[in-house]
Amino acid sequence: MEDITIREFEFALINEFFTELERQGPGSPEETIRALSFISNLSSKAKIADLGCGTGAQTMVLAQNTKATITALDLYAGSIDKLNVTAEKLGLQNRVKGIVGSMDNLPFRNDEFDLIWSEGAIANIGFEKGLNHWKNFLKKDGYVVITYESWFTDERPAEIEKWWVDAVPEIGTIAHNISIMQKTGYIPVAAFTLPESCWIDNYFVPQKARQEEFLKKHAGNKTVEDMIAFMRREADLYSKYKQYYGYVFYIGKKL
Ligand code: SAM
Repeated sequence: MEDITIREFEFALINEFFTELERQGPGSPEETIRALSFISNLSSKAKIADLGCGTGAQTMVLAQNTKATITALDLYAGSIDKLNVTAEKLGLQNRVKGIVGSMDNLPFRNDEFDLIWSEGAIANIGFEKGLNHWKNFLKKDGYVVITYESWFTDERPAEIEKWWVDAVPEIGTIAHNISIMQKTGYIPVAAFTLPESCWIDNYFVPQKARQEEFLKKHAGNKTVEDMIAFMRREADLYSKYKQYYGYVFYIGKKL
């Protein structure tokens, strides 16, 4: 019971930290559009689900570059509130709706979606488990588009291996992840790596000022101090070992 409380507290703190930032994970509008260019046949009747959407940076890019209707889902209510306000501000509220829910228990109908999108979030429930569950909600020939932490090489230094295996026990190489897509019933369409700017300029750099502000706001809070130390180590490890890993966009079509 105590464990659950601590974890929930940390989840709320992490989200309080990140919802003030433009993005909650590495990515960029350019790379979202690049991934979208592999998807054909999205008419104004098309339906997209954006899972683990956060405050919706990529959701708005999807809405502005398609005519589809988008349901964006995240576990954190604060992010969903922010996403719905942004959709309204951009005049997209008729096509974009944020809802609170969990990616591993989706509140959708079978075969409902033409496209399931998810940037930087599937590791929270597991790559294979997510692909298996999400397939139920895709139409035949529907697409799944995911960014996921991946190894770029077959071997890597022990320090970075341990860090990532602790964070994402399932982490694998690009070839391995493509084989999981095939095993779970998708035809691989494309895979490409996110450039470094998605991590550095859009993820680590914007965190710096927020970290200072957050430490001041929560002065004396050991959980916050540990959380910021973890984030700083994540950035240091990235600059040291970025040739070994990164986010990869995986695009698959349901069989
Ligand atoms: N897609 C956004 C982006 O790229 O900026 C957010 C990525 S962030 C790294 C991961 C998101 O997954 C967070 O918003 C978190 O609240 C959400 N999340 C974690 N577990 C979840 C779950 N079981 N169901 C739905 N969302 C979840």
